Amino acid sequence: MGLTLVTGRANAGKSGRAVDHVVAAAAAGRPATLVLPSHVDALRAREELAGKIAVGVEVTDAGRWIADAWSKRGDGRALVSPSVRAQVARAAAEAAVPLVGEVARTRGFNRALQRLAQRTAGRSLSTARSEGPAAIAVALGDYARRLQEAGFVEPGEAVELLGAMGWGGGAALAFHRFTDIAMFQERAVLFAARHNDVLVAVTWEDGFAASEANAPLVQRFVAAGAHHEHVSTPAVAGELALLEAQLFAPAAPIEASGAVRLVVASGVEAECAAAADEAYEAANVWAPGRVALCFRDLAARRSMIEAALRSRGVPHEIDVATPWRQTALGRGMTALLRLALGDGTRADAHAFAVSALSGVSADQAQTLDVDWRKRRVDEPRLLLAGLSALGGECEQAVALAQAGADEIGDNWKELALHLYAMAVGQAGERSKVELRLDRSAAQSVIDAVQAVTACAVAMAPRELLHALAELEVNTGSGEREDAVLVTEAHRVRSRRFDALIIGGLTANEFPADPGESFARGAESELLGSPVDPDGSERFLFYVLATRARERLVLIRQTEDADGKPVRPSVFWDEVLDLYRTPEQAKEGELGGLSPYRAVDPSMLTTVPPMFSPDRSILRERAATGLIDPTRSRRGAVPLEALVADRGEWRVTEIETYHSCPYRWFFDTRLRLREIDAAFGPREAGTLAHEVVARFYERWLERHESRVTASRLSEAVHMAEDTARRLAEHVRARGVSEWAAVDRALAWARHSVEVDAELFCGFDPVAFEYRFGGGAESHLEFGGVRLRGSIDRVDVGPAGLIVTDYKSSDVKAHDKFESAGLLQVIVYATAARKIMQLPVAGAFYRSFKTADVRGFNGGAVPISAQMKKDDIGTEEKWSELVTWAESAVRDAVAGMRAGNVAPAPRTKEACRYCGARDFCKERQS
Ligand code: SF4
Repeated sequence: MGLTLVTGRANAGKSGRAVDHVVAAAAAGRPATLVLPSHVDALRAREELAGKIAVGVEVTDAGRWIADAWSKRGDGRALVSPSVRAQVARAAAEAAVPLVGEVARTRGFNRALQRLAQRTAGRSLSTARSEGPAAIAVALGDYARRLQEAGFVEPGEAVELLGAMGWGGGAALAFHRFTDIAMFQERAVLFAARHNDVLVAVTWEDGFAASEANAPLVQRFVAAGAHHEHVSTPAVAGELALLEAQLFAPAAPIEASGAVRLVVASGVEAECAAAADEAYEAANVWAPGRVALCFRDLAARRSMIEAALRSRGVPHEIDVATPWRQTALGRGMTALLRLALGDGTRADAHAFAVSALSGVSADQAQTLDVDWRKRRVDEPRLLLAGLSALGGECEQAVALAQAGADEIGDNWKELALHLYAMAVGQAGERSKVELRLDRSAAQSVIDAVQAVTACAVAMAPRELLHALAELEVNTGSGEREDAVLVTEAHRVRSRRFDALIIGGLTANEFPADPGESFARGAESELLGSPVDPDGSERFLFYVLATRARERLVLIRQTEDADGKPVRPSVFWDEVLDLYRTPEQAKEGELGGLSPYRAVDPSMLTTVPPMFSPDRSILRERAATGLIDPTRSRRGAVPLEALVADRGEWRVTEIETYHSCPYRWFFDTRLRLREIDAAFGPREAGTLAHEVVARFYERWLERHESRVTASRLSEAVHMAEDTARRLAEHVRARGVSEWAAVDRALAWARHSVEVDAELFCGFDPVAFEYRFGGGAESHLEFGGVRLRGSIDRVDVGPAGLIVTDYKSSDVKAHDKFESAGLLQVIVYATAARKIMQLPVAGAFYRSFKTADVRGFNGGAVPISAQMKKDDIGTEEKWSELVTWAESAVRDAVAGMRAGNVAPAPRTKEACRYCGARDFCKERQS
């Protein structure tokens, strides 16, 4: 009994050693199991080894192996499923709000908690030295308790318990082809080795830079007493073998023979076209099933790759993961259930009506939307009634959603299957990949409902919907002998191909930027072991590059879609270095390997224009009015109606009244617009604001943390993309209005650029954060009940920062009173109350000048856009709050009394006032 560690480089012959280990045991009549990383790996190994290994050798995957052991010897609890984990983490995160603040309610925190719960299960945590990780440790303890009460166990804890019991006995086990081993799998190997003959193969060689990421794992196995065998790589010849041997440690320059190709492309569309050309050519040389095409980030260009491959007639299978909530089925189900739960909006209802899953024609959906708009229908119950009245499949879906809102059970499964059936019915209009994702999304719902109904702790429908949103679904193995595999870099796993094409070799894609996040720091501290993301990415590239038997194609963009230069990935340069001398590298010469092909957009005929996949979604949003910066003309409202019986006031109107009573009257009572003016200064501010908010929606979805200098080019690219999408829906007339549109988009873009250096140490957590007006929280301020929408909230160790974006100039806090600026004071007070965090700063931020001025409690770092003068004491803040309270009281009293005489507080008030063209009191 014991552990044998077999190390060696990729393709050194470790597989043979692992197979021999279990075959010999089976021949001797002992139980023998070959354990592989995933179900797909196990299926493939069974096929490869069929007829070659003795009867009696079991081939399984690590998850199944642990689950089998637990089902035989466990304590009756079930291994936790992803949906239950997400839900329990959500409950634990909610309970952690008093400890870590409002950030605990964010999706990023929930994900981090889930990841940590998996990685730390059953293990004692290092004592956290800092406050944040200590609070997370408490949340993890709470998670473990809740999970146990619900009747579930994390695999990591199950492994520890099985290890304490003694894990089987007398068997031979071989763990093979793991490109990375999770901590609980490592522990399982060690426990199993106490009573069995265990062999574990790890890709590693002393001093070999590519495998450095595995050095700590090897050290741990050796320290645990493993017998260490190293399989040396025989002397190699051939370009690909030399590349494998010298990657990250170049020796004499390799002579290029054509086995390694470089392709450069101008823009992402050209890159996809080039990748499809390479796949086409390789599939004609070898069988399509022996060719793979992969990207570090495939999801971002999936539709373009599909279209390019289709147009060239390349049979392909796409294996890609995507969040459940982003599948068509996930979106449709979320929209219906949100409405049925009373949370949905007209945007949800309209999005479902126009989707392929509703069974409703585009005309019907449009007519319904127009009717809702005319009658101002916003109530979820009425919106559902409108959908139901369309009859047929739509009515049935609504009925299932309404039943599902009452309780979790078969109705959820039926709703998922009903929507999937609708998706299948629309298959002609949708790609196979989308359909597979829908199938996987429907299966996730069925699995989640089964897990939840087996759970000892009741779960509310709203909670299950949140848990589902956290799941990832994928298209399946994607492996077919007659199709090129298109997948993400980390999903290529151990399989080898005759031709492997790696795209996306630019600096901002591969290596992937792990980002700087609070959760990642906590993970390192709690586990007592720093994570080495650079080493992991290097190892991933090494494993990928060594999957090619005959041809390796590397593709990168030289410019982005706008023609701006894009830096190559460090791995691109590492490969170039194998073909040139250090002197040539210093001079920037390419050496023996120059790009085999270059593609630019003028050569494209078949790839659809960039960003088309999301256009329909944006149109839907625009149709709901969500992103339309123009405003419809509304009839005048009597002043009495504005002030009578109003229990709640909008903060913006109070500030407007404070700036000039007649300006408020003009804006809120008369509601006039300049004749034929479609896009003015007000709309410019709204558009810039909208771009920033929508940008962050996408950015936080991807990165869960602030924009940093290292990710700035990606951020700017995404901001420009967001701006371009929103600009499609702007209605402007004439040169000056379109110039205003361009100006607004430039403001937004610059604002994102500035974000890389602004508020360092703080992360944005909320945009358009509402209080009052039906939202759960409201604010009593100066004896007046207020509602509002906070443009932006950032959170850091020192508390929260509230930001209000302005098109105009902005002022220091000592000018707040004279200028009548009270919004950020009220917003900061509301955020403080809701999030229970101290106010670190309250700022106005000018789109026009990029200045950020207001109140800085002293903990917000001063960047170029800010001024030291804005630092103020707690007493000063209290004075400002007191002044704002009395200003709010006075304003409401004035409005109630009908005092609407023109009385501008500053010239600035007139500059942005709608009445400026005829007002006699105007100050210029
Ligand atoms: S132009 Fe100036 S004074 Fe006249 S209503 Fe507008 S803000 Fe008031």
